[in-house]
Amino acid sequence: MTDVLILGAGYAGIRAAKTLSKFAPQNTTITLVDKNTIHAEKTQLHEVAAGTMPADKITFDIRSILPKSVNFVQAEVKKVNVDAKTVDFVDHDTMAYDYVVVALGFRSESFGLPGADENALPLEDIPSAEKIFETIEAHVANYAKSQDRKDLSIIVAGAGFTGIELLGELTHTVPKLQAKYNTPDIQVTSMEMATRILPMFDESLANYAMEYLQDHGINMMTGTKITKIEPNAVVYGDGESEKRVYGNTIIWTVGVSGSDVIAESGFEQRRNRVVVTDKLNLKEHPEVFIVGDVSAAMDPSSNRPYPTTAQISTREGNLAAKNIASAIQGGALEPFTYESIGTVASLGGADGIAQVGAKQRKYKGFMAKVLKRAVVDKSLFEDANLSTMFKKGRWPL
Ligand code: NAD
Repeated sequence: MTDVLILGAGYAGIRAAKTLSKFAPQNTTITLVDKNTIHAEKTQLHEVAAGTMPADKITFDIRSILPKSVNFVQAEVKKVNVDAKTVDFVDHDTMAYDYVVVALGFRSESFGLPGADENALPLEDIPSAEKIFETIEAHVANYAKSQDRKDLSIIVAGAGFTGIELLGELTHTVPKLQAKYNTPDIQVTSMEMATRILPMFDESLANYAMEYLQDHGINMMTGTKITKIEPNAVVYGDGESEKRVYGNTIIWTVGVSGSDVIAESGFEQRRNRVVVTDKLNLKEHPEVFIVGDVSAAMDPSSNRPYPTTAQISTREGNLAAKNIASAIQGGALEPFTYESIGTVASLGGADGIAQVGAKQRKYKGFMAKVLKRAVVDKSLFEDANLSTMFKKGRWPL
């Protein structure tokens, strides 16, 4: 009997469970553990945060999509004990394993910036996404009473992938809220340290996104290093050049770290990401596989870790499962290889940018949005099943 524990039912964990159920030999017990019974398609959290999509459109019950051969346990992981080959939980008895897949995902990272934890809203899961929209709407509604323009000012700190996709959605939310509460203009400000947004895209596409957002009323501030967050203002610059943008809704999309369970477990890590072998396991503990946002698998072509994306997490989960199935049967393990099929960013509504295929073909506008919707539907189909895709999918056109 071989016990395989999969920790985390995100993109990587669900894929690992599904693949193992296909390839693991009989007498393998596969157990998937998550603190929630619901999986969230986290690439779409920005839509819930902007109020353009209800949470139930990007979530599904984990147990409803698992093959019969996978057991599901709802429990919160506290610590992985690699020497003892056990996992401790906050709310469950310790479990032992022969192989473990650590797929515990990301959390928002404040980088120790003063006031960020206290005064800015992170975007990392369904409750935090819902809280962002509730906060935006509560402040806009309050304007009638307060007549305070800060109630009508939304600041998005960080214009990475998440920040840009959120801004795109907000261009649709803002006019609706203005009309609903009959307020003067709501101001949305993006504050980004880099002088050029979206470095993973060709400059022409990044410029398109920048101009699109500006044309739709977003105040895009680049080359703006945030130094502090106050209860009603974001501070940038320092010393005599210190300035403030005032606003009562401050949203934090400045970056992410892996789950804190990683540091808690004593893994050698940076921002809670662990460098793994090309087989996705640990050299000293080959029975421990680490995948997704807690993993730093090295890209041999750049000698840097692969970025943290859903596409990569899914593939890592798949390979970890195949390698475990092979190891159980005494077979050889395969190395992780990855070639991006493309990068797509939504700008909300029917707009977006995309760079696709080996030739990095560039798309902008509606065609890019069609691709984005196809990506969301493919993910729902593969992570869940056909009926979930029919119920919750976007349909490319
Ligand atoms: P990110 O790290 O990609 O972006 C954070 C942004 O904040 C960067 O542009 C950075 O320059 C800026 N920043 C950092 N410190 C700052 C400061 N002090 N002042 C002002 N700006 C500052 O983080 P994210 O957007 O949260 O994304 C997290 C991860 O998830 C990334 O790896 C991203 O690629 C991935 N992601 C991928 C997709 C996708 O593939 N569709 C979508 C969303 C997120």
